[in-house]
Amino acid sequence: MKFFETKGVTKQFGGLVAVNNISLEVKEGEILGLIGPNGSGKTTLFNLISNYHSLTSGEIYFQDQRIDRLPTHKICELGIGRTFQVVKPLGRLTVLGNVMTGAFLRYPEKKSAREKALEILEFTGLMHRQDVLAKSLTIADRKRLEIARILATEPSLLLLDETAAGLNPRETEAAMEIIGKVRETGVTIIIVEHVMKVIMGLADRIVAINFGKEIACGNPEEISNNPEVIRAYLGD
Ligand code: ADP
Repeated sequence: MKFFETKGVTKQFGGLVAVNNISLEVKEGEILGLIGPNGSGKTTLFNLISNYHSLTSGEIYFQDQRIDRLPTHKICELGIGRTFQVVKPLGRLTVLGNVMTGAFLRYPEKKSAREKALEILEFTGLMHRQDVLAKSLTIADRKRLEIARILATEPSLLLLDETAAGLNPRETEAAMEIIGKVRETGVTIIIVEHVMKVIMGLADRIVAINFGKEIACGNPEEISNNPEVIRAYLGD
């Protein structure tokens, strides 16, 4: 069984080909890094996987099931969770309340949703913030909350979009630690990240894209020495 696969995935916005014939495979348990300069199509690819945008052409499979025509909520139910680069917690809910909105997907009863949410707050180091309104959190804690909320939906594939954006080095370290812990629980991860250190430190394999097309694929060392990748970034 293939865990996750995109086949020839393409997205056009009018005349712009934002994602151009991307075929990638993710093995169960691995962290795949996705890098590329601004505007290279990384977020669009995430939007296609979770069907926020429909494909122009191509196919997407999760655990051998074709998912590219399924509604977003169904994709989440199957176990694909994603975070957003710009996090949008439900500001008027508490931290616990936010995480419970995720937990309700698998735990319809309030009591069990609460228990699940508390377990996730412990895991993500947010327990001491459980009663704080989400809107009064720092950016770093909001990002943590975003991960917590998605983890509460018990994903088996997690799509992380620029978790380190806007974080200082210490906060970035803490975010990497959480991502490492998530992987230890067996969750497979695709991570889009502009901060090279994060990708290089976490990913087993990296796919580099530019102008919507794959330009390289390899382990972190191969990617950081790849002339085309270096050129794409210097031109950024
Ligand atoms: P990245 O995440 O790598 O920075 P994006 O996926 O956000 O890149 O964007 C890829 C390209 O697609 C960019 O040129 C962007 O302007 C364009 N794009 C993204 N979303 C839309 C949209 N909803 N409508 C039109 N163009 C879009």
